[in-house]
Amino acid sequence: MVAEWQAVLQRLRARVGEHSYKAWVEPIRCARDEHGFRLEVSSAFFKEWVLRHFLSDIRVELRELTGSEPELRVVVVEGEAPPPAVAEARPDRQPPSRKRATGSAGALRIGHLMEHYTFERFVVGPSNELAYRAACAVADGSERAYNPLFLWGGVGLGKTHLISAVAHRFLGRAERRRIAFLNAEEFMNQMIAALRQDQMKAFRERFRELDLLIVDDVEFLAGKERTQEEFFHTFDALFTAGKQVVLTSDKPPQAIPHLAQRLRSRFEGGLNADIRPPTAETRLAIVRRKAEDRHVELSDAVARLIVERSGPSVRELEGALTRALAWAELSNMPLDEASVAALLGHVTRAPGRVSIAQVVAAASTYFNIPIDELRAHGRERAVAEARQVAMFLCRTLCETPYAGIASEFNGRDHSTVVYAVRTVEKRRAKDARLDVTINALERSLREAAARRAA
Ligand code: ADP
Ligand code: MG
Repeated sequence: MVAEWQAVLQRLRARVGEHSYKAWVEPIRCARDEHGFRLEVSSAFFKEWVLRHFLSDIRVELRELTGSEPELRVVVVEGEAPPPAVAEARPDRQPPSRKRATGSAGALRIGHLMEHYTFERFVVGPSNELAYRAACAVADGSERAYNPLFLWGGVGLGKTHLISAVAHRFLGRAERRRIAFLNAEEFMNQMIAALRQDQMKAFRERFRELDLLIVDDVEFLAGKERTQEEFFHTFDALFTAGKQVVLTSDKPPQAIPHLAQRLRSRFEGGLNADIRPPTAETRLAIVRRKAEDRHVELSDAVARLIVERSGPSVRELEGALTRALAWAELSNMPLDEASVAALLGHVTRAPGRVSIAQVVAAASTYFNIPIDELRAHGRERAVAEARQVAMFLCRTLCETPYAGIASEFNGRDHSTVVYAVRTVEKRRAKDARLDVTINALERSLREAAARRAA
């Protein structure tokens, strides 16, 4: 472990209290590279939480320890890939569970088919109704034309939940059915392992014997030619044999870059159904349902508050609920409006001053781009977009005129900042995720300023 981090941990433990420390600080992994400190967390929600509640403390401690302004980035690192999952249906048994391995040769464990991702637990609303109905039809085997079923939509909107539900229901049917449930990356890893061990024949047979193939996150195939080729043949073999394929992606087939034309046209050939961010009403229904699943009673006001104070994805909504429940339990406090409002952040106080350097440092951390690059003239898209967001935040938070901001970004002209602000405003109106990002950054900068002012 990075030595400074060890020391920071000790100090933070005293500063933030044991519960917060265990829940939020201890799980952070810290690494150091040429750009400074890299804090790794396991989810977008976690990241937002760390940015909002701990980043300024971490910064202060690191500054004290190292004697200079630390460059800090918080990055989301997905957990370790779950084991591959190919299962054989056992109609006479319980639904598959994490613990039980299926017995037959060639059939692997169900590694990551989440038990509670069922149709019954999925809240249906206008944003996901088409996807839901299509998934049900496919799972019941009542619709042959939906092949492949291609579900697409933003992160955390329920794609994995729905396809897991398909798998559960399919496995629950009376006939003996062979299914595979894995994500595209696992498909690639299995293929690579087979190539290395000279076992491609077995690999192909395993996949081509299936009754149902479910592959999550196929956008991962972008640019992976060898994997695409293998996947194409697997797909074709199953399709030709009349077997069902279900796929998900964060974008529609035509928007996946570097995807072979023949795969794209296969993906487009069945039913494409998108899942959009849920409406406020659906979000409320989801919060209520999730609370119910955990046998917790939520007042209307608290449910509404959680809906208002969390990001647009269902995962964030669920995260906010989880934190609220965890907090209530740990602190032994009632889950009332005031405490949830305090917990989920609410900035009404007049903000203290935010400096341009602070905005740039926060943007650097959030977008994982070194400060120098943010201030420089590089045109790489991710950098240019992050820079525009930084300029936008400077404009909204720093009370500095355009020209003053421009000069902080390597002596640019004020019209660059004007343009950046307009561009971000337009993008933000259309892009819910950008909106969440900006809200998170604004909140964390304002709160840090308020703490400094206090
Ligand atoms: P995706 O695969 O699209 O990124 P997930 O399927 O992992 O999203 O969903 C994220 C979380 O949100 C999961 O815990 C899932 O149960 C929950 N979720 C998403 N949509 C719904 C819904 N309509 N009803 C109930 N839970 C949902
Ligand atoms: Mg998913």
